[in-house]
Amino acid sequence: MALTVKLHPSNLCEVWKILRISSSVLAFLPRPTKIIAQTMESIVAEKVVKSYGSTRALHGVSLEIAPGELFFLLGASGCGKSTLLRCIAGLETPNSGTIHFGSRNVTAMPPHKREAAMVFQSYALWPHLTVAKNIAFGLEERNVSKEEIKRRVDEALAMVKLDGYGDRSIDAMSGGQQQRVALARALVVRPKCLLLDEPLSNLDAQLRIEMRREIRRIVKEFGLTAVYVTHDQEEALAMADRMAILANGVIEQLGAPEEVYRNPRTSYVAGFIGETNIIEATLRSTDSVTCEVAGQMFHGRITDASWTPAAGDAVKISIRPECLRIQAGGAIHGTVTEKIYLGQCIQYWVDTPCGKLQVVELNPQQLYTPGDSLQLAVDPDDLLVLSR
Ligand code: ADP
Repeated sequence: MALTVKLHPSNLCEVWKILRISSSVLAFLPRPTKIIAQTMESIVAEKVVKSYGSTRALHGVSLEIAPGELFFLLGASGCGKSTLLRCIAGLETPNSGTIHFGSRNVTAMPPHKREAAMVFQSYALWPHLTVAKNIAFGLEERNVSKEEIKRRVDEALAMVKLDGYGDRSIDAMSGGQQQRVALARALVVRPKCLLLDEPLSNLDAQLRIEMRREIRRIVKEFGLTAVYVTHDQEEALAMADRMAILANGVIEQLGAPEEVYRNPRTSYVAGFIGETNIIEATLRSTDSVTCEVAGQMFHGRITDASWTPAAGDAVKISIRPECLRIQAGGAIHGTVTEKIYLGQCIQYWVDTPCGKLQVVELNPQQLYTPGDSLQLAVDPDDLLVLSR
């Protein structure tokens, strides 16, 4: 078979495994008027351990994804997010631990029996086949009748807003359209769970934003439980119901986007989800949560309720750039070293006794230039005191 550019061999093989399985359940499914609308299922991982030789990719990960939830796995490269997704898909088998889809223990189940479909970063489409043939592939494998295939392919095309594109060749489709075809191919087999591995990474910025809304619409409209892997924190903030941030094979924090953004428990999470300033400090009082930096005292708040620090502990402070206000009489004195004008806001870098701080000012009234002195203020509620 002549397979070119967009086909990553490992992905092809995985698409094949999943399509075979997913389509195998078709005969037993009811025929809803819409393509999906299956009973929603939870996904529960319990103490999942996965090693590759001496590399331990997952150190006993547990999480519970609610039926119909759009759940994100996030973290720096190598943190284990793809491994966890692949264990959920059945493309990897954990060394220990369990994975349940609803009441079904799928830990050792082959991917095609899981009623899950996967969308890959590389799309893994067959360039020599038409759009319709690509989408129909999994159905043809299972001898679904021609009329039924046509009906389902048309429905899938409508779902991803590609009505009428069935006869086009894949090569004649733009990147964004190919991504939609990959989605349609996943959805046509009526999965209960949709697994997405960096699905938007190959698209340009504008299309990515458009597709974020589309994927969320599809997941919600058709009642899918979806797990989405990305390293793009903005994508996760914009789309997720909840997210898990992984580091070195463990979940560092789990929560809704606004919860994680507002209350990161570690400097890794604070820096990964959004921009932040991290400042080394010494805790002076636990009652009033007072920290000392360069001889100056600052009040803040502790975000990790399970942490019991003591006065004298070395801590880290996180302050979001937008939480630093340029204000006469502010406690932090500094000198502007760099300015970036972005229209709706201005970014400044300011040298201070606390280190170089990034400040973002929305709707700026007064512009500062490098060399200008200014003072910065921050509310105690926005000064987060972290253990590490
Ligand atoms: P992420 O998706 O967060 O970038 P991965 O889950 O791909 O991380 O990888 C987690 C760890 O497991 C990394 O150290 C990676 O090098 C290792 N790893 C992943 N897949 C394999 C493999 N097939 N063989 C050996 N090591 C692997």
